[in-house]
Amino acid sequence: MDEKYFPEKIEEKWQREWEQTGAFQVERDDARPKFYCLEMLPYPSGYLHMGHVRNYSIGDALSWYKRLRGFNVLHPIGWDSFGQPAEQAAIKRGVMPMEWTEENIAHMRGQLKRIGVSYDWRREIAAHRPDYYKWDQWFFLKLYERGLAYKRASAVNWCPKEQTVLSNEQSSGGVCWRCGTQVEKKDLEQWFIRITEYAEQLLDDMAEIEAGWPERVLTMQRNWINRSVGAYIDFPVKDSDAKVRVFTTRIDTIYGATAVIVAAEHPLLSELPEGSSLKADVDRFVARLRAERASRAAIVAGGEEEEKEGVNTGLFVTNPFSGEQLPVWVANYVLMDYGAGAVMSVPAHDERDFEFAQKYSLPIRRVIERVSHEQEQIAHDERELDQSVAMPHAFTDYGILVNSGEWGGKLSADAIREMAEYAQREGFGGGAVTYRLRDWGISRQKFWGAPIPVIYCEDCGVVPVPEKDLPVVLPERAEFTGAGESPLAGVAEFVNTTCPKCAKPARRETDTMDTFVDSSWYFYRYCDPHNDRAAFDTEVVKYWTPVDQYIGGIDHAVMHLLYTRFWTKFMRDIGLVEFDEPVKNLMTQGMVTNLIEGTDEWRRMSKSLGNGVDPDDMIEAYGADAVRLFVLFAAPPENELRWQETGIEGAVRFLRRVYTFIWRWRDSLRDAPRGVPSSEGFSAAARALRHETHRAIVRVTEGFERMSFNTNVAALMELSNALGEFQVAPDGATPAERFAVREALESLVLMLTPFTPHVAEELWEGLGHEGGIIAGLKNGSVRWPQAEESLARRDELEIPVQINGKLRGRIRATRDTAEDELRIAALSDERVRAWTEGRDIVKVIVVPQRLVNIVVR
Ligand SMILES: [Zn+2]
Ligand SMILES: [Zn+2]
Repeated sequence: MDEKYFPEKIEEKWQREWEQTGAFQVERDDARPKFYCLEMLPYPSGYLHMGHVRNYSIGDALSWYKRLRGFNVLHPIGWDSFGQPAEQAAIKRGVMPMEWTEENIAHMRGQLKRIGVSYDWRREIAAHRPDYYKWDQWFFLKLYERGLAYKRASAVNWCPKEQTVLSNEQSSGGVCWRCGTQVEKKDLEQWFIRITEYAEQLLDDMAEIEAGWPERVLTMQRNWINRSVGAYIDFPVKDSDAKVRVFTTRIDTIYGATAVIVAAEHPLLSELPEGSSLKADVDRFVARLRAERASRAAIVAGGEEEEKEGVNTGLFVTNPFSGEQLPVWVANYVLMDYGAGAVMSVPAHDERDFEFAQKYSLPIRRVIERVSHEQEQIAHDERELDQSVAMPHAFTDYGILVNSGEWGGKLSADAIREMAEYAQREGFGGGAVTYRLRDWGISRQKFWGAPIPVIYCEDCGVVPVPEKDLPVVLPERAEFTGAGESPLAGVAEFVNTTCPKCAKPARRETDTMDTFVDSSWYFYRYCDPHNDRAAFDTEVVKYWTPVDQYIGGIDHAVMHLLYTRFWTKFMRDIGLVEFDEPVKNLMTQGMVTNLIEGTDEWRRMSKSLGNGVDPDDMIEAYGADAVRLFVLFAAPPENELRWQETGIEGAVRFLRRVYTFIWRWRDSLRDAPRGVPSSEGFSAAARALRHETHRAIVRVTEGFERMSFNTNVAALMELSNALGEFQVAPDGATPAERFAVREALESLVLMLTPFTPHVAEELWEGLGHEGGIIAGLKNGSVRWPQAEESLARRDELEIPVQINGKLRGRIRATRDTAEDELRIAALSDERVRAWTEGRDIVKVIVVPQRLVNIVVR
């Protein structure tokens, strides 16, 4: 230990030590409880940003805490290294994606090591390496075997000029990001994973994680899945054998249907007679709709934001309940993705239908009336309603059926059940549950992803690659122009192969997988990262999983976290794990913001806004420990963190104060008694310090259990202040006082470890513990400080004593010390007596719990 705090030197020393001793390497150990702490794995863009630093500082603090509590802590990291930016770099600068990615990883790994995050680096994985994506492909085959991976035509954004597929971002504003051509929708055969098969479980199993996940995330997932209970009804098409299947949650309103509306992609539209003027109208409308949709970044299900538009197809269907003929329209607010791509339009009782009916003058017929208390009494009473009164807007509540034939007079709730049963009996419908959740499209017409392991043979059709031939390895080089087909399709050695079944020439699938596949199961691989016979050993995974704490951004609330929950359920179904949910506790950390220069506006740090802060610069200036301490102190982890460099300066000052104090005391602490001296030996100052120490232990321990890091740092600063006020000099301290100081310092250092591990190691060694904290954890000499409840609770006050209004001393008392006792204590205090000796005491004023003022003459 040097006399002064030099972060750079200390951090280098301990990072080297950790590396050389394999400090954070863990193996399965059935004798100890395990803790799996996981941070969302980063995309290797090239540089860490402060959002990363925050995420990893949170995870690292928790990992250290659990280690000190005796847990066997798995804390790994890896790279979500497939994806678009690597391909963009290839297009722009001609550097191959593999090279670009590996360089970025190397750089970011160095940054992570300089922050000193306690990862088990032997477990590092990267999605773009064949030893990893081999198992993506293996999972795909398992999904395919079970009918959970399938292929169908689906629309993509298409630049007709460059003949290339564009992502939503690349087609924002409806034009190609590169050449400005109007983007079109084009149908391509694509691979999907049947996640909808698990919709019900994805909803129901939320009960298992409710206690550990933010309600906000669960709500977002619930809305995304969006289960609705209702009925389907088949409307026969006039002069045809075709039927239009409609899904509705409000079958009770079916007598109010004045049209059936289908989506632009609905197969019924092919029934329109070729060459008719109506067909021309419909075709024109559909074409325009598809062009417009291509221009939207993402199609909002239900088309909520669109101006409602439609065109009459000239076809008619029959309402199977009323026998009435209804016109069929096609409109933009009905999507093929929801229900069956067709709805019955009930303008009187649905806002969107109402708006549409008003615009196109469709009849509005009211069939539900508000239920008053008396009306509830007269169910089954056939009621009629005056339809001539115009409705100002749709009436969407439940109520009582009117103008509904034999169903009139029933309450909505009864009618919904009974009408669905009736439809089922009559063979034209029945009860149904539907979800907004769609199957997961995993096909990407891109190079930099895991190749989908499928071969196309003219004779045998779709042939999955046999397991023994995995991985299907990406070629090292390809030509990246950004135009035309996927670069993979241009690599003949890749595309041309032989059929595994008949050995004739065949072609490989050139679509690659969505990168969300890679991140759906990566944390299982960390448990057994070098296994080349299986994705992982199930026994090893059984020990480490489920993940005890997962930490990441709220932007992953839906896609990633839903896919990973699905993947685990699928893994359970093929016997790889025994539980339903992969993550017990989830924390979504808030964003890091910074002032936009010249304004008073705080915005998320970003390069493009020019308000980013480079973690490397901060570490160089203040040290990794101070940066981490500030990041955890400045705000609760879920909240926005406002970046303030003065805050880091404060963190450095705090660490320097603790460092200097230990430097001053370390010699005199060497021979401090190890056991607790008899209590009579403790001076008032020592007793007060012990109280502060044990109080801090209680607060910090509780804080860690709640991941309340900022209040923990505050408690540690208070303990350091208490040490600062400890007036005894090291060489004049009694054994009991030295005991109290060592107790305070050792507790402080251990509790600082999760925040500032490097300097904590150095200080621990400075306090006479050879090899630092990690060595102590390994030989069992280090454990989280234990609070003595009685010491922590003791509620001692420090009461100032004034003489003629000037502060001359302090006495110790509790909240219940009586006025008389305070007076006696004040008058007998040594320092006070020095001031009062030889003078007349005129008056003693006592304010209990606050103050003693002595007036002398
Ligand atoms: Zn283009
Ligand atoms: Zn074949």
